[in-house]
Amino acid sequence: MGTKTVYEDCDILVVGGGMGGTGAAYEARYWGRDLKVVVAEKANIDRSGAVAQGLYAINCYMGTQWGENNPEDHVRYARNDLMGLVREDLAFDMARHVDSAVHKFEDWGLPFMKSAETGQYLREGKWQIMIHGESYKPIVANAARNSADKIYNRIMVTHLLMDESRDNRVGGAVGFNCRTGDFHVFRAKSVIVAAGGASHIFKPRAVGEGMGRTWYAPWSSGSAYALSIQAGAKMTQMENRIVLARFKDGYGPVGAYFLHLKTYTQNAYGNEYEATWYDDTKAMVGEYIDHQPTPTCLRNHAFIQEMKAGRGPIHMVTKEAFQDPHLEEVGWENFLGMTVSQAVVWASQDIDPKYTNPELTTSEPYVMGSHATCSGAWCSGPEDLSPEEYFWGYNRMMTVDGLFGAGDAIGGTAHAFSSGSFTEGRLAAKAAVKYVNDLKDEKIDVTDKQIYDLKKAIYKPLENYKVGRNEIVGGTVSPSYLLPIQGLQRLEKVMDEYVGGISVNYMTNDKMLERGIELLDIMEEDFENIGAEDLHQLMRAWELKHRLLASQSVAQHTLFREETRWPGYYYRGDHMKLDDENWHCLTLSRRDPKTREWTMEKAPVYHLVD
Ligand SMILES: Cc1cc2nc3c(=O)[nH]c(=O)nc-3n(C[C@H](O)[C@H](O)[C@H](O)COP(=O)(O)OP(=O)(O)OC[C@H]3O[C@@H](n4cnc5c(N)ncnc54)[C@H](O)[C@@H]3O)c2cc1C
Repeated sequence: MGTKTVYEDCDILVVGGGMGGTGAAYEARYWGRDLKVVVAEKANIDRSGAVAQGLYAINCYMGTQWGENNPEDHVRYARNDLMGLVREDLAFDMARHVDSAVHKFEDWGLPFMKSAETGQYLREGKWQIMIHGESYKPIVANAARNSADKIYNRIMVTHLLMDESRDNRVGGAVGFNCRTGDFHVFRAKSVIVAAGGASHIFKPRAVGEGMGRTWYAPWSSGSAYALSIQAGAKMTQMENRIVLARFKDGYGPVGAYFLHLKTYTQNAYGNEYEATWYDDTKAMVGEYIDHQPTPTCLRNHAFIQEMKAGRGPIHMVTKEAFQDPHLEEVGWENFLGMTVSQAVVWASQDIDPKYTNPELTTSEPYVMGSHATCSGAWCSGPEDLSPEEYFWGYNRMMTVDGLFGAGDAIGGTAHAFSSGSFTEGRLAAKAAVKYVNDLKDEKIDVTDKQIYDLKKAIYKPLENYKVGRNEIVGGTVSPSYLLPIQGLQRLEKVMDEYVGGISVNYMTNDKMLERGIELLDIMEEDFENIGAEDLHQLMRAWELKHRLLASQSVAQHTLFREETRWPGYYYRGDHMKLDDENWHCLTLSRRDPKTREWTMEKAPVYHLVD
């Protein structure tokens, strides 16, 4: 291991410089003028994370200054969409602060579309406002850059460090530079994990040469979950994976089409189909189907059932809206600002939405905590709102002392989106500053042994390859190591077939989950033998290990919740109904870092808003 070791001691380490991470860096400086704030980012913060390519709409803005919505309204909305189960304290807390974050984006130069009549932000829907957002990410990155003492780009963080002078307290993080190979040690008094969600844990619809084309960013490798799980943090709602109905193959967003262009869907024979499945859905979920707006998962359910009934494909009716030149322009611009590939797919398949209604599809499942889903770490809420079970001292602190989270990393907070994730980063950083100040002169103790052991583990895949490569003269199949891509395909296959992916129409049951969990455990042993031929593959190896841990957590949670709470996201074949009597609760898990055993429990859902 002739690699150089770079040490950095700081007060607050932010892991991941996406929306949550940039918000955290900005706010940490505001409250912690004298504190040392460092960001470690796997890519380059100018173009990293789910917002890398830009966005066309900010999906979470109350508009309280214009009397549009109040935070309570947003809590009701998120709760309804998630079939009753969200952390209402966290949702309210985010919603009461999100507008101020959005106003900052405008101050920093992000161009907003405005209504010609009122001068107000142009609404795409009740919660969404429209932006010219190609440069959204560089703009928030700039704010982080102006705030942090140092930003390290190209650092894949692989593990958190633990303080050895006190139980259950974080002490920093380690990782490596994906370009130079240097080993990086960040000793920190507090850590804010904001490393995004997880794609590619389930087999994607687009395989082979198209496998990089998923709805969720392919580089979101579940690190936020794995880092927290490895440290012994409790997770919540990891079963609540998300499936998206999107334009086929390019996964172009449908929000602007539904909300602004007023397009609608129909089956292959030109018929409306959601009403067909009303009785079926009502039998499964009861009155939830009568809620307005219809929860996203239930709309998916109708889509999936209609496809199973043989009346697919489902089309988006664009031909009418696209006759209006203004709407046609908006329709195309929507993709050019954030999902160019959808426009390219249509061009390559001779689809002009003015003359052809494009197909929709339901995606493979993803795990995230900021979209229409709320998987992630179990964290404390704010002191003025949270009931006892939800509060242990510092807002957004996980069940490990000094470890905070934001955005996709934190569970229970659906519908935060880009602006809400940035806001959560700010809230976490404000609390982390208080935590560090409260520590006063108390020292964090991280021994060289802890650091050395992790270093050895991190570079092992390079060693595995170097040694094992001599056993074969050509090709990629070796008796001694697995390449990251081979491991990834194994993982995706197990998750797909046993944990409710596309090939089983999102269906699973206790027996399948139990077998899936066994196979994932075997895989954990096999992944000790991952071989990485270069630094890029070393990054892939660690992404894979993080994905595996996130997957194990998803499988454990899915087994624990004995009901079908979100038909359209997944189905428990052995419990095909929603069961409010027994399961109107949040699920929690913890993996013991030493024994690797999982324990599961229920936590109450408090409805704080009428
Ligand atoms: C396809 C798609 C479309 C969306 N459309 C909209 C929209 O129209 N409007 C809207 O408001 N929101 C939208 N969102 C939601 C928004 O993008 C997310 O809510 C937000 O980006 C989440 O913030 P985050 O900080 O948790 O994750 P990200 O912004 O994804 O940031 C995570 C960061 O962590 C880094 N990272 C990952 N692993 C590591 C590691 N091991 N070490 C170091 N760094 C690491 C990543 O490189 C990345 O920079 C969309 C999301 C997706 C996926």
